[in-house]
Amino acid sequence: MKKALVCGAGGFIGGHLVKRLKREGYWVRGVDIKQHEFAPTQADEFRLLDLRAPENCQVALAVDGGTFDDASSNRTSFDEVYQLAADMGGMGFIHSAECEIMHNNMLINVHMVHTAATMGAPRYFFSSSVCVYRDMQPGEPELTEAEAIPANPDNEYGWEKLYAERMAQAYGRRHGMTVRIARFQNCYGPEGTWTGGREKAPAAICRKVAEVADGGTIPVWGDGTAVRSYTYVDDMVDGIYRLMHSDLEGPANIGNPEYVTVQELVEAVAEVAGKRINVEWVAGPVGVQSRNFSNERIYSSGWRAKVSLKEGIGRTYPWIEAQVRRSRGR
Ligand code: NAD
Repeated sequence: MKKALVCGAGGFIGGHLVKRLKREGYWVRGVDIKQHEFAPTQADEFRLLDLRAPENCQVALAVDGGTFDDASSNRTSFDEVYQLAADMGGMGFIHSAECEIMHNNMLINVHMVHTAATMGAPRYFFSSSVCVYRDMQPGEPELTEAEAIPANPDNEYGWEKLYAERMAQAYGRRHGMTVRIARFQNCYGPEGTWTGGREKAPAAICRKVAEVADGGTIPVWGDGTAVRSYTYVDDMVDGIYRLMHSDLEGPANIGNPEYVTVQELVEAVAEVAGKRINVEWVAGPVGVQSRNFSNERIYSSGWRAKVSLKEGIGRTYPWIEAQVRRSRGR
């Protein structure tokens, strides 16, 4: 039986990835600094560890019950390591917590990749982001992965991801570790952060729509013209799994090619909710104006996004609406 370590298993994508790996027949250890907030973990073993500390990365990778006190456990027996742990959130968080993001994520990534490589992990997955790319204007041709250089990310989160990508590749070359890197588009779905300041646009808009009555008004950052694509979590997890088992060296974008404006995202949520919604466009940290990326590399693995925005919101909105009702004690 293959063994997989999922770092960030108490989070949104990591939690869904654990479920997929279990369905594929893996023995899975999940690690995170916190328990999953919305669903009991399906990992065979779950450990609460702060991966900013190198000794905790060693504990995460040791398969002798988790202690790291004897030389025989210096080699890991995990077949695959998935590194998704990060201090992150939507644009509001990314712009207000740039020092925390750079500090915490750099420590996690420096120590995890160093420890995994020196303990002999054969395969390492790193979750990067399309935030490594520069801002784009609507209608610009698609960017390929190579066009992240010369680099000009819009935010510090993107700079940290870019450095961590290069570090993972350097460790892969030095230690003969197979490294796979995905640059995720915005990901959404049930069991993700939906309130509290770290939620991303699809979850925030679902929550706001759930909170108002038919005909109500919700505040949304920007003017509604920013262009994005949103990838449903099952598609993202399928992309991670296929990329990890592909021969694709170097970063690969993973994203749904269905591009919409923020205005269209609001309309999709309102339609699923069956509500007439007015929007008050307000100043806020919108992020880049546009995104448009080539998926050719990940397509070569056989991956395609299967879930349309309408279908994905149709699965996500009812979950968020239930959370809103529960939080109001109804
Ligand atoms: P998430 O916040 O739900 O999950 C990240 C997990 O990492 C959290 O559970 C958090 O507790 C954990 N973590 C944070 N600091 C830690 C530490 N010091 N030690 C151990 N665990 C720690 O986020 P997500 O949406 O599931 O994102 C997973 C990965 O994908 C991240 O690396 C993120 O940067 C990347 N990503 C996500 C998106 C998206 O749209 N969700 C887009 C691009 C990239």
